[in-house]
Amino acid sequence: MSDLPIRPYVREAASFNAWDPGTQAVAGHVARLVESACSVAMVEHIGSTAVPGLRGKNIVDLAIEAVPDDIPALSDALGSLGFGRQEGIAPFPPTRPMFTGTVTEAGVQYRVHLHVVPPARGELAELRAFRDALRADESLRDAYAAEKRRLVDEGPAGPANELYTARKGGFVVDSLYRLGIRLPPADRPEPLAPGSTIGIMGGGQLGRMLALAARTIGYRIVVLDPDPGCPAASVADEVIVGRYDDVEAARRLGEASDVVTYELEHVGMDAATAAADGAPLRPGARALRATQDRLAERRFIREIGEYTAPWREVRGIPETIAAAEALGYPCRLKRPLGGYDGRSQLRIDSPSEVAAAVHALGDDEHAPLLLEAEIDFEGELSCVIARDRDGRTLAFPPSANVHEAGILIESVAPATVDPLQAYDAMEIAERLARSLDLVGVLTVELFRLRGGGLMINELAPRVHNSGHWTLEGAATSQFEQHVRAIAGLPLGSVAPHGVAAMVNILGTGPDREARLAGLPDALRDPGVHVHVYDKRRVFERRKMGHVTVVGSDVDEVVERARRAREALRWEV
Ligand code: ADP
Ligand code: MG
Repeated sequence: MSDLPIRPYVREAASFNAWDPGTQAVAGHVARLVESACSVAMVEHIGSTAVPGLRGKNIVDLAIEAVPDDIPALSDALGSLGFGRQEGIAPFPPTRPMFTGTVTEAGVQYRVHLHVVPPARGELAELRAFRDALRADESLRDAYAAEKRRLVDEGPAGPANELYTARKGGFVVDSLYRLGIRLPPADRPEPLAPGSTIGIMGGGQLGRMLALAARTIGYRIVVLDPDPGCPAASVADEVIVGRYDDVEAARRLGEASDVVTYELEHVGMDAATAAADGAPLRPGARALRATQDRLAERRFIREIGEYTAPWREVRGIPETIAAAEALGYPCRLKRPLGGYDGRSQLRIDSPSEVAAAVHALGDDEHAPLLLEAEIDFEGELSCVIARDRDGRTLAFPPSANVHEAGILIESVAPATVDPLQAYDAMEIAERLARSLDLVGVLTVELFRLRGGGLMINELAPRVHNSGHWTLEGAATSQFEQHVRAIAGLPLGSVAPHGVAAMVNILGTGPDREARLAGLPDALRDPGVHVHVYDKRRVFERRKMGHVTVVGSDVDEVVERARRAREALRWEV
């Protein structure tokens, strides 16, 4: 064992304890150590342990400011004290790392988090001000403790504690505004009143379910879609017929709407901008730009220090072969624009397959493509998070997803994974939502790596197939949550009602008029819910609907949902 003052950190599930006065001395000692070893001006004791009497996890949170350029030297100095960099599944990005360690004080072990925040946005001042407000105001302290208690009590069994940090953010953000620590944007409009109009770019099943949720609150719906008989048409007040890149049609959509959103990220940027001339565009242009092009998405994720499969931008066959050698086989070639449900990507197992893949995916031989390493993952997760226009976030518990040939076939939620991993997925989603400055819902698809760890696969600044379970499986659906966020309303509870299984109903056979048979059989199980998207035509692998079952046993709900799905067929 080394004799450094800071010992290695041990990760534990969150708990909720009485305030421990011992944390004060620990904070003081560690702060002095850090100040002398790192020549930083000031170490602040923040968080719950810095507020006498406040219940919490009794982790000693300390914070310092440092610009990214100074972080390598800082890291060395902290390492010499025994601090480690936060490890594991979802480490903070390199520009704002968290260092961790354990110290023993009077025979008791305390865990220490040392947060390094960039000075640019005044985050440390905000943390300090919130701490001081809690210290000074007993009623604020009581309210905060009550909120923490409520979140712990209200949450589902098991991962409840893990959901807690992500959910208490709302109280903190509200307090920051109320206390005047954070100022609301000057141009913040009033929440949308019922009777206002929501414009949706895209009228597929996601637009349809968004429209249904919006209608429930009394909003009117205008949809932009090339197909006047699109799935959302029958629940919209008006369909503006036009392609997703039709600037004039999009302008009309904006003019007819009080807020505009999109159900797919593959809308033309010029069209989105034209719609935004008439009404606020949410989740926002930034989120669109960063996610509609897979290469831009990779660059954005890398910039904020999160992790994806190793990747390269490639053009042409020789460059692709060279990059594939570097990444190793198998690897995956993806077209940057327009892919979904596993279309527009190919797995490459050997150099002899490269030329055919480049020809199949590139518009011409030198079109830029994304090449990435094939990941041998343990499973796939996704997390749907909502962010309101004041920056409050609320993440649904992650779902476990099964894809077949790139298309989602089943989800189970909450995913039965290590609660710490579920929590990490929600934290990653929170950081991404904040970095995109998004208002509305963001879905983050992740790979669960063998041997632990998470890797981001893909982002979608919208509701998502893997969140359909929330329609029956959570207190608020992803669709209502998105509508609430973009309308400026408070977010709804994300508490799950149990465990939900969602199984997609895919098309089979040749392209023809859609005729679904077997519905009475599927519904014989009274716990089964069948959603049919009202698509006029069916073809192989087209997403036509889904089945949900909510219960208490994972295997049982999956089995029942599959059985219902098998009772359904597309008649010729
Ligand atoms: P889409 O936009 O079609 O959803 P994705 O990039 O999410 O495209 O790929 C679809 C599915 O293909 C993923 O959910 C995953 O199952 C599989 N996949 C994609 N990229 C990789 C990869 N690098 N390694 C292993 N599987 C992958
Ligand atoms: Mg995907």
